[in-house]
Amino acid sequence: MTTLFISDLHLCAERPAITDLFLEFIHEHAAQADALYILGDWFEYWIGDEAVTDDEYRSIVTTIQKITDSGTPVFIIPGNRDFLIGNRFEEYTGCRLLPDPSVIDLYGKRVLVMHGDSLCTDDHEYQTFRQHVRSEDWKRDYLAKTVEERHNIVRELRERSNVAKARKKPEIMDVNGHAVNEIMRTHQVYDLIHGHTHRPGEHVFDLDGKRARRMVLGDWYENGSVLKCDADGWVLETLPLHAPA
Ligand code: MN
Repeated sequence: MTTLFISDLHLCAERPAITDLFLEFIHEHAAQADALYILGDWFEYWIGDEAVTDDEYRSIVTTIQKITDSGTPVFIIPGNRDFLIGNRFEEYTGCRLLPDPSVIDLYGKRVLVMHGDSLCTDDHEYQTFRQHVRSEDWKRDYLAKTVEERHNIVRELRERSNVAKARKKPEIMDVNGHAVNEIMRTHQVYDLIHGHTHRPGEHVFDLDGKRARRMVLGDWYENGSVLKCDADGWVLETLPLHAPA
């Protein structure tokens, strides 16, 4: 059996082919898996858990309900785009929210899983922003606004984020090596899985004299990306996006 890890799908109405690819992935891969982990930015944005009953998300929600009902656990760590996923979403879909980061037992191995944005410590501007929007005050104020107001704020934040990203050097937006070592030491792990940077790959390095590994999941823009793990090993696979008919 296999445990699957995905992240950075950025599902939204503007990219229906990616939603179709996700639904196909659930039917063909995840429904038979030991577990599915979604490590953040599953959605392009999440304005609050009322959205769980929106038409926009109906096919996604019912598909996920089906696999959690049939006994496949789905664990989620929200990302910087969908950190407002909360308990109502959990109850409605049967997914289970995990804290960021979390240590999991993966076929006898301790593995740290996280979204990954907290590791980008060279991007001071982003870290300040992250602290601000993750505060209980900000979340309470935001969720108290009307749905329309919340959509407007998201639109504004997305625009600002695009402008900021365009002028930042690419290395600033990658993880910081010291932050990686530090969090792995704190949690006493030699394996880390995260997303967020959209730079899929496997990084093997020395951590205090031991072989450590950092696996980065890919985004779902040009194609899908999934990490398949079983007791024998890990494989990062690409899921082809079908050409529109
Ligand atoms: Mn992200």
